[in-house]
Amino acid sequence: LVSRKRHPEDTIVKVGDVEVGRKPVMIAGPCSVETEEQVDTVAKGLAEQGIKLIRGGAFKPRTSPYDFQGLGIEGLKILRKVADRYGLKVVSEIVNPADIEMATQYVDVIQLGARNMQNFELLKAAGQVKTPVLLKRGLAATIEEFLFAAEYIVSRGNNQVILVERGIRTYEKWTRNTLDILAVPILKQESHLPVLVDISHSAGRKDIAIPIAKAALAAGADGIMVEVHPDPAVALSDANQQLNLDQFNELMTALKGSQLL
Ligand code: PEP
Ligand code: MN
Repeated sequence: LVSRKRHPEDTIVKVGDVEVGRKPVMIAGPCSVETEEQVDTVAKGLAEQGIKLIRGGAFKPRTSPYDFQGLGIEGLKILRKVADRYGLKVVSEIVNPADIEMATQYVDVIQLGARNMQNFELLKAAGQVKTPVLLKRGLAATIEEFLFAAEYIVSRGNNQVILVERGIRTYEKWTRNTLDILAVPILKQESHLPVLVDISHSAGRKDIAIPIAKAALAAGADGIMVEVHPDPAVALSDANQQLNLDQFNELMTALKGSQLL
């Protein structure tokens, strides 16, 4: 069902009036929802740039059980409230199949994270709702496994799926993951689903945000996901990779300047 052979036209994922898969989109926002004020500061900055999609984690799949686990439903409520204030759409990760139905009340796009790409019960649950799904590639998933994960969702009845390349594990230590840029044209060729690139979780650093975002869009990505925090140094998660608003504005200027966005 996700194969281009069976379905040659591009799938356009509709998030309200935002069409993912038509022209490149930007999804930006903090790694984790921390406070209403924090989300408001970012949302205001995004709205000023004309951006429509805000991300923020409420249920955080953290490597260590001692790290900040997210605000849960409270986080979803903050996102919804602030997003409505600025006319934005909400993208947020859900980790438990039992929460999918509940999440549809608060989010416009259900994110399924890298660590859950093969959580088949979660994929099936996301396939049973109408809310668009943003599916991230697993930490060590092949392109074929990634497409089969998307197939789980679409085969249950939800064809509104966005694929996100977010880097894979390799021996390289100077980046958090290795961005598999080759996956972008391959996924676009093999599948009709929109493909985005997460420049934050792939690199794990922010100093190379501009060139990797350009590379992703030049390779044919339908958009970029990036983490933005009002004060990354004090962020409760992923402090090293989040851009502040000035850095985010520089990224936007660079992409608009090269007519990639
Ligand atoms: C995220 O986008 O918040 C996240 C946890 O990313 P990933 O699942 O790609 O690690
Ligand atoms: Mn993060």
